[in-house]
Amino acid sequence: MPELKKRYYLGAIFTDRCPRCREGKVFIKNNAYSKNSTEMHHNCPVCGQPTEIEVGFYYGTGYVSYALSIALLAASFVAWKVLIGVTFSIDDNRIFYWMGISFTLLFALQPVLMRMSRVLWLSWFVTYDPKWKEHPIEQPERIVPEQMNNW
Ligand SMILES: [Zn+2]
Repeated sequence: MPELKKRYYLGAIFTDRCPRCREGKVFIKNNAYSKNSTEMHHNCPVCGQPTEIEVGFYYGTGYVSYALSIALLAASFVAWKVLIGVTFSIDDNRIFYWMGISFTLLFALQPVLMRMSRVLWLSWFVTYDPKWKEHPIEQPERIVPEQMNNW
């Protein structure tokens, strides 16, 4: 059996890859904590997929990173409750430790979440095409070239 190079959806999301080919990295910088780490290639360096499909395409990602943050908080709360325990009694400070730790963590993770929300967002509009080499790229319809750098 020939070895199929296959990357799964979540694998592509967690490694910030283009949703069309799941190969090309969409961000110019690899490190989420470097300066301008949300700067993206205009086109996927592997398959050429435009990363900005329309003007203001990424405005909606604020909601995505918000949802990701809430999901993380909820998950950390459940983990905390199971592993450490939480009561809402007045002499139990454990919920405040959870708050302190999880909010700090959430704050520290913002660059990662911002990038992830962009990759997620793009992946909801661009479908995976394992045979991308055989198909033409869907060109964005409403892009005005001089607005490309405005977001
Ligand atoms: Zn690509």
